[in-house]
Amino acid sequence: LFSRPVTFLLGVAQLEQLPPEDKTEICFAGRSNVGKSSLINAITGRKDIARTSNTPGRTQQLNYFDLDGACHVVDLPGYGFAQAPKDIVDTWQNLIKQYLRGRVTLRRVFVLIDSRHGFMKADLDMMKVLDESAVTYQVVLTKADKLKKGQLEKRIKEVVNALVKHPAALPKIFATSSEKNTGLAELRAEIASLL
Ligand code: GDP
Repeated sequence: LFSRPVTFLLGVAQLEQLPPEDKTEICFAGRSNVGKSSLINAITGRKDIARTSNTPGRTQQLNYFDLDGACHVVDLPGYGFAQAPKDIVDTWQNLIKQYLRGRVTLRRVFVLIDSRHGFMKADLDMMKVLDESAVTYQVVLTKADKLKKGQLEKRIKEVVNALVKHPAALPKIFATSSEKNTGLAELRAEIASLL
């Protein structure tokens, strides 16, 4: 599954551009700079996603990738970035909401959380949308290498405890580092189990 290149399929800036619902979709969401591109690159072993998703003009659309012909990987625009004008932010928040609510082939959303910060307001806002849309999601801590072992354990406990209040969240979380390649095999196995 992860041995062949991920290829960029298309960027979706409007609902009408979504591809037909004929493949399982796995989606990655997270605040800007959370390490989303690095993580997707690390689990697929490719550089394509960072280059593509961080290209100007492609940062505010849903970027679709094909994973070995087996599923679509959907990279959502990074949220919580206050620099864009409000009407533009509103437009793509709306796009994300509509996508999450209506997509029958969407199998799982991985919500990336920076290990150092835990849940921030923008994360909780996103999780509220997911809870309300009844889209199953799972938390992935990123940049785990930035914390000491004890700090990381504390963060994991805190996050797991908070998830109890979120009906669409799975109780199991992943702690990863793209830098040190930790937690990646577990995440790959989880994705493979969904297909
Ligand atoms: P994105 O905006 O969510 O796609 O974030 P990027 O993948 O571009 O990463 C943002 C920054 O965090 C970059 O400077 C990365 O080098 C850094 N970063 C990403 N993953 C890790 C990680 O696992 N460990 C550490 N220490 N830094 C990371």
